[in-house]
Amino acid sequence: MKVLKFGGTSVGSAARIKEVAKLINDGEKKIVVLSAMSGTTNSLVEISDYLYKNNTAGALEKINALEEKYFDVVDALYSSKEYKLDAKKILKSHFDYLRSFSKSIFTLFEEKAVLSEGELLSTSLFQLYMEEQGVNSALISALDYMRIDKNAEPDTAFIAQNLAKVLANHDGKTIYITQGFICRNFYGEIDNLQRGGSDYSASLIGAAVVADEIQIWTDIDGMHNNDPRIVEGTKPVPVLHFEEAAELAYFGAKILHPTCILPAKLGNIPVRLLNTMDPSAPGTLISTQSKKGKIEAVAAKDGITAIKIKSGRMLLAHGFLRKVFEIFESYQTPIDMVTTSEVGVSVSIDNAKRLDEIVNDLKKFGTVTVDKEMVIVCVVGDMPYENIGFQAKVVDALKEIPIRMISYGGSNYNISFLIKATDKKLALNALSAKLFN
Ligand code: ADP
Ligand code: ASP
Ligand code: MG
Repeated sequence: MKVLKFGGTSVGSAARIKEVAKLINDGEKKIVVLSAMSGTTNSLVEISDYLYKNNTAGALEKINALEEKYFDVVDALYSSKEYKLDAKKILKSHFDYLRSFSKSIFTLFEEKAVLSEGELLSTSLFQLYMEEQGVNSALISALDYMRIDKNAEPDTAFIAQNLAKVLANHDGKTIYITQGFICRNFYGEIDNLQRGGSDYSASLIGAAVVADEIQIWTDIDGMHNNDPRIVEGTKPVPVLHFEEAAELAYFGAKILHPTCILPAKLGNIPVRLLNTMDPSAPGTLISTQSKKGKIEAVAAKDGITAIKIKSGRMLLAHGFLRKVFEIFESYQTPIDMVTTSEVGVSVSIDNAKRLDEIVNDLKKFGTVTVDKEMVIVCVVGDMPYENIGFQAKVVDALKEIPIRMISYGGSNYNISFLIKATDKKLALNALSAKLFN
């Protein structure tokens, strides 16, 4: 069985939904994971914002405007009057539900329910369209099998067991339609896998059913060798190792959710990135294979803060790093990059919520300096240290740019640089020019 995930743009209009329906209807058994139609989750975030602020009029205006868009989709999607009517009933129940939130208090719990509506809508409408087309499909609810634990980590045993049950309940179907992004948490409440998390849903589902392949269908022909939003003339990378793809996803290649590679890698299930707008393009195949000795791609992660702790006492002191790391741990702040010298250590974080407290605590150990508005630029490829010259090439490409931190050696697949956000565009373009042209 294959798992196919279609992102927001891929189901972003009636025309696109029809294309996807055609694409998946080849008689092969599959699970199809859908995102919300593009723009919907952002609208739901805005609606929640109004509700948090008790601005009922603002929320209702947004909800009604979103409903109008869906009415247009319904009119264009279904051919028969009956199906249009059924679809409008679906819309009415979902949008009445959204409107009901304006009457009670609004907390994180309600927000999660509001955010889940995008995927619930897209999958309901899609399943109804499949029915109109006479396709042998079933809608299965992610809320019946997708679950995170107390630490917001996926409960893989629960997912595998319950997904198998749900599938067995719909035995004999060829296509199973389900929601990306949404799940239940440890307490059984509606929750989600974070923005962009439908990719993660697909790989968790793929791992749970031990799929032959996980396909991530989006609006571009695979993982490009640099960020196509910033660099012109980027090209798709045909083959990537799981580790390479994971580094790229984690360090900013938006095409993949940061955590989505891990379940596939653990289950050794190949992931293929494909383009809904150009289905015959080869895309990118992510597996245990890599192109030996090749620098494959560059990505950048925004919103980074660098923190340097300089301490005379660090010299030869054991336990110093532990004490530093413990402070970050106590404020539940993950560290991205680390560089050390005999007199100090620099780390980077992407979540600066607890920065003031962290800095305050670090001052016990030495002089603390903070640099905000930085980005990590990450160069990814098969780069074992015996292969001389690749570091020189990468550093040479960045010779005009001030570099705050450099990191290599944590893996054979990544060299990272910390630079100022204002130098990002220049750095990405310089790397493409030097490494790929
Ligand atoms: P979906 O809605 O299908 O999940 P996303 O918008 O999340 O799609 O991801 C696809 C987008 O990722 C592309 O349109 C592209 O602009 C962006 N992107 C950023 N970096 C890369 C990259 N290295 N390769 C391909 N796409 C990238
Ligand atoms: N709809 C969700 C979002 O926009 C999840 C996803 O598209 O992957 O973040
Ligand atoms: Mg995405």
